Amino acid sequence: MEKSTYLTTHPTNLYDFIHLSVMLLDLIPTYTDEKKGSLRDVWAKSIEELSRDQDQKKILSFLCKCGIIAIDEKDKKVHVGVPNEFVLLQVKKFFHKGLKKAISVSYNPQFTLDYHVYTPFQRPNNDLQIDMKKLLKIKLPKQEAKELKNNTSQSSKLASQFGIKISPHYTFNNFVTGAHNNFALSAAKAVAETPGKVYNPLFIYGSVGLGKTHLMHAIANHILQNSPDRNVLYLPATKLIDEIISAIRKNKLNNLMRVFDDIDVLLIDDVQFLADKDKTQEIFHNIFNEFHMKNKQVILTSDRPPKELNNIEARLKSRFALWLVADIQKPDYETRIAILQSKLAAKGESIWFDLLTIIAKSIKNNVRELEGALNIIMTRKTITGMELSEKDMFDCLKTLGYKVDNEDKQVIREITQMNTRSIMSYTKIVEFVATYYNISVEDLKSPKRKKAITQARQMLMVIAKKHFSWTLERIGDYFGGKNHATVIYALNNFTKKIKHDKNLSHDYNVVMEQLER
Ligand code: ADP
Ligand code: MG
Repeated sequence: MEKSTYLTTHPTNLYDFIHLSVMLLDLIPTYTDEKKGSLRDVWAKSIEELSRDQDQKKILSFLCKCGIIAIDEKDKKVHVGVPNEFVLLQVKKFFHKGLKKAISVSYNPQFTLDYHVYTPFQRPNNDLQIDMKKLLKIKLPKQEAKELKNNTSQSSKLASQFGIKISPHYTFNNFVTGAHNNFALSAAKAVAETPGKVYNPLFIYGSVGLGKTHLMHAIANHILQNSPDRNVLYLPATKLIDEIISAIRKNKLNNLMRVFDDIDVLLIDDVQFLADKDKTQEIFHNIFNEFHMKNKQVILTSDRPPKELNNIEARLKSRFALWLVADIQKPDYETRIAILQSKLAAKGESIWFDLLTIIAKSIKNNVRELEGALNIIMTRKTITGMELSEKDMFDCLKTLGYKVDNEDKQVIREITQMNTRSIMSYTKIVEFVATYYNISVEDLKSPKRKKAITQARQMLMVIAKKHFSWTLERIGDYFGGKNHATVIYALNNFTKKIKHDKNLSHDYNVVMEQLER
């Protein structure tokens, strides 16, 4: 494979004139299959390399819609396309160093990295993306083997005894962190690393749908992965109550207590439900004390802090608050976007960023509902087979009982107006150029190749590209359905010509003055 074939049209001449990112992205459709294959190869090797040091789920979340859009042998640059500004920030923050190293191993150590965001008019180019899930699975067997082992462990026997399984889908890797849960997450990780040694008990509270249960399972999974022989029991408080009541009724409380004796780590979810259950509270108090005395880890969650747990004995409440009480708040806007992105990536899907913001702006208090909205939207997309629109987003929010925010509607209106304004002011420039050269607008949009017409048309194409960020496709459409290659040729040709042709340069400046008015 000859490396110099990666970037056939070297854009040096266009650097001053046209935004490089837009240019590179627009060149993609002109690539041959072989060239796309080569770029994918380099990307796949780099991702494999990256996954040696970095978290695979995180790679999948943020890099699955990215790809190498060009390799510039002259400037020694690898150009990576990213789907939106948010992913760009995350990629720079989490992966830049690692990617640079990976590219240097998989391709060439002298190359630097550059990132380019797909414009709203461009879709991520699937041809340059790789099946990252498949690629990364190559390395998952180890983990799967551990999961398999867990199934035969004590914990798994306990799980089937109580009918409650620890879900392998809730892990630290797919738990998105933000200011709202940072503290709880750090505490959870510390406890998962060294159960019984740091914060015992750990009490996590927060309102519904903010990730308490997810964190509990993540702790359990982490402990079982590190030490599959540990005896870990996860129980919702309601289940604990049922078990205790049933044991009392069957006169088998001693048996149940023996089961707890063998447990190393106990996780009880939603302890607010112990309210008013006096007998259960008394028994749980005993279990709790045993665990505490033996330095065995207890983790509890609740929808409110211990002090506010009504109708739970004071001595039990004070036990709950014995060590660390960590809260989970509502996620901020950026984190809500990150959660949506991460859930989409896990499904191998994507939604245009501006549409995601509509959901993230409206659903503020509950991550479960954020996920629910995504499911509704994705189902709608599958059923209709159409690209999603703002209307789909607003409909989904209405289905979930959300009043659509006027502010959101305003944002959408502004995007639409910006587009309309862009077309209106561009049309004015086209009319000005036509008058200036004494030709008609129809001629400009026709296939006519008279010198004056061609020159004016090329100038207008460059303006559309540089000042209006139009894609090649949109420019081609405007000028009577010209294809990519024609537009690229026109842009190149005009750029070259203007450097030597003083008259043309003068004319261009006159038009520019018009634009700046
Ligand atoms: P809670 O127990 O606090 O009511 P859950 O743990 O059941 O909430 O979370 C509800 C849903 O939201 C789950 O599907 C969970 O995976 C998801 N979720 C919550 N917080 C996060 C987060 N920070 N990152 C990823 N998913 C989250
Ligand atoms: Mg829960």
